[in-house]
Amino acid sequence: MRVVRFFEILVAFALMLIFAAALVGGVFRWPFFILAAVALGLYFVWELLCLRCPWCGSAMEPSRLARGLRRPCHCPSCGHEITVVWRVNKRVPEHGPDDGEEEDAEMPGPAPETKTNL
Ligand SMILES: [Zn+2]
Repeated sequence: MRVVRFFEILVAFALMLIFAAALVGGVFRWPFFILAAVALGLYFVWELLCLRCPWCGSAMEPSRLARGLRRPCHCPSCGHEITVVWRVNKRVPEHGPDDGEEEDAEMPGPAPETKTNL
């Protein structure tokens, strides 16, 4: 099963937030610049390690992967469909009829398929 975990995308976004916050803080207290540099470095490392196309391994933008949570997104390099899941052990449909596209549903609610009663 070739999927991208949403958790990995969240970590990338969190690192960018820390970087931005530390950059602002560095204006007032210079040591924050060190934190900003560390956060930026961690972000690039994280992007290299985790935010990759599970099919061909090319780097993916976190924003593109975040969109893939709600509707199928395709790798720009190899064209394979990339499935983004909340959890790894969640069952992913192999090829479902994904024709209901939600254009402007921006709230990060729970996963679309929550019909299965556990
Ligand atoms: Zn690819």
